[in-house]
Amino acid sequence: MPELSSADTAAQLAARLAQVRERIAAAACRAGRRPEDVTLIAVSKTHPASAVQAALAAGQHIFGENRVQEATAKFPTLRPGHPGLRLHLIGGLQTNKAREAVRVADVIESLDRPRLADAIADAIAREGRTPGLLVQVNVGDEAQKSGIPRAEADTFIEECKARFGTALLGLMCIPPLEGDPAPHFAWLADRAARHGLGVVSMGMSADYETAIAQGATHVRVGSAIFGARG
Ligand SMILES: *Cc1c(COP(=O)(O)O)cnc(C)c1O
Repeated sequence: MPELSSADTAAQLAARLAQVRERIAAAACRAGRRPEDVTLIAVSKTHPASAVQAALAAGQHIFGENRVQEATAKFPTLRPGHPGLRLHLIGGLQTNKAREAVRVADVIESLDRPRLADAIADAIAREGRTPGLLVQVNVGDEAQKSGIPRAEADTFIEECKARFGTALLGLMCIPPLEGDPAPHFAWLADRAARHGLGVVSMGMSADYETAIAQGATHVRVGSAIFGARG
């Protein structure tokens, strides 16, 4: 197969982005919600800065990255030309990367343990910059997955509220790969409401419509926009 020109690639990306936006709007309407109440985070991990630029040209301004190092390599150079650009860090975060994360991210979605809360608080004090924060809950209580266990979630959320105040925006989860994600999504939305938190980040390419039906305010969609990861 011949190589696609970058113009073709950009057009394909814009078309996929438009399709995802339409499906988000339709899912919101089916759930009796307004399309503008659901924010799309385009997950650009493993894809080059040129793909991010194509998405920016198509009107997408909120991006998600898993790794601090990759985010730092890709995003700061794009910011001057795109003042509306927002970057969410969505991957598991090591405490020794907290400072760089606070420097590069607008929102850190993976706050999931007291030691990381300590490291982020310290980084905020040193950097003089406060990103938004989401507590990640391990809704399936899976051994291999990051996130605070369900049973410890309420206590940890209250601690983070006390410590970070209004910078604590909400909750995030990645449900188990197997089985129906809807009950996990419903649990997370209910948790956020109980704690008076407005942001509920859940739903990926395979299940974002289900997440919207259950109350997601933010969906994190990668491969449906940027194509399969290599
Ligand atoms: C990679 C990733 C996504 C996007 O996954 P897709 O299936 O490509 O849409 C969303 N959230 C997190 C935390 C991820 O790591």
